Amino acid sequence: MHSIEPLRNCLWCKDALRGRSDKKFCDSICRNAYNNKLEHSSANLIKTINYALRRNRNILADIYEQAAPDYTVSKEVLVYKGFQFKYHTEVIDLKNPVPLFVCYDFGYQVLPEEQVQILPISKDLFGSWHSANGSRRGDRV
Ligand SMILES: [Zn+2]
Repeated sequence: MHSIEPLRNCLWCKDALRGRSDKKFCDSICRNAYNNKLEHSSANLIKTINYALRRNRNILADIYEQAAPDYTVSKEVLVYKGFQFKYHTEVIDLKNPVPLFVCYDFGYQVLPEEQVQILPISKDLFGSWHSANGSRRGDRV
């Protein structure tokens, strides 16, 4: 009986492989290209995330003025502009009412009904943020 040979493809170019069953690439060109890519993948990841963070920050900065007087926009608008909610530089957990997500010098809070409030973040604001309501929240043990 013939065993059915699993269909194997080159890890780089995805062409069907022939020959030895432990073969992973068509040839050394495909193998080198693949290994090269692996080495660069973490550099690419960093580049991609840095780009996304910067873009998030710029979208917040662009929309901020237009969103006056309450500086609130719908989540949909941000997504449409290419905002990626998974990327932020910091999360300030205010406990009340919702966390403040920060992208460099702009922050946002997700409000009910898919609304997002944007606020510029200054170093001073960071320092006084915990005591904004007189007492420090989240300090209770
Ligand atoms: Zn190949």
